Amino acid sequence: MATLEIKDLHVSVTTDEAEKEILSGVDLTIKAGETHAIMGPNGSGKSTLSYAIAGHPKYQVTSGSITLDGEDVLEMTVDERARAGLFLAMQYPVEVPGVSMSNFLRTAATSVRGEAPKLRHWVKEVKTAMSDLDIDPAFAERSVNEGFSGGEKKRHEILQLSLLQPKIAILDETDSGLDVDALRVVSDGVNKYKESGEVGVMLITHYTRILRHITPDFVHVFAGGRIVESGGKELADQLESEGYVKYGVKQEA
Ligand code: ADP
Ligand code: MG
Ligand code: MG
Repeated sequence: MATLEIKDLHVSVTTDEAEKEILSGVDLTIKAGETHAIMGPNGSGKSTLSYAIAGHPKYQVTSGSITLDGEDVLEMTVDERARAGLFLAMQYPVEVPGVSMSNFLRTAATSVRGEAPKLRHWVKEVKTAMSDLDIDPAFAERSVNEGFSGGEKKRHEILQLSLLQPKIAILDETDSGLDVDALRVVSDGVNKYKESGEVGVMLITHYTRILRHITPDFVHVFAGGRIVESGGKELADQLESEGYVKYGVKQEA
């Protein structure tokens, strides 16, 4: 059973002028089979947490620890983190011109699985996963994320999730920019993946609407670079009606 354990994590970013602390002591444990919603206002550090876990070079861990099944994640390269079973779907997916989606997925699967998937198997696997997510088969030959709409990028991420089968999946604002139909398709994809095995999910979101489709076991409120409150899914309902005001955050439009 996979366990991601984050202890007293402090993360800084260095800009031209100075080093700025963004995360100030995050404690969070996610076990396989659990879904944790991380909710919080813009700028509270939610994406920074996901980048630090993924190993983005811009985000320096100044103290604290991240382990996966007791292994030190911070000692791992980005590739090693993926092989260990960590998956990050980014809030702003990058475009990779000239690399087709099918090549990209096969390369990623090869890296994570340690060997290239057999081509005939693979083609079938991708086709099935794409059709489950209502992705037009023509997308397989398109450049990664190039000219994709917001909804298409998010579906593509869930496609990666179902093909790479991580132990811990971090979904950063997978719901943003999705219309109702796309939100349902993406949520169904995540739920299907959750049902397929024991996965731990960290679902980062600003809004509660995705939580009507993907039920969290735990809800954590993020403010000022730390978790300020944790609870069950009823906490999301409370946030829906009250917003983040009680955490000292001004209500946004
Ligand atoms: P959230 O995802 O909750 O909206 P972020 O993690 O994106 O929050 O950002 C938290 C804070 O850190 C913000 O004030 C943001 O401006 C700052 N920040 C994040 N990334 C960088 C960066 N690469 N360089 C400078 N500041 C950053
Ligand atoms: Mg601290
Ligand atoms: Mg963010």
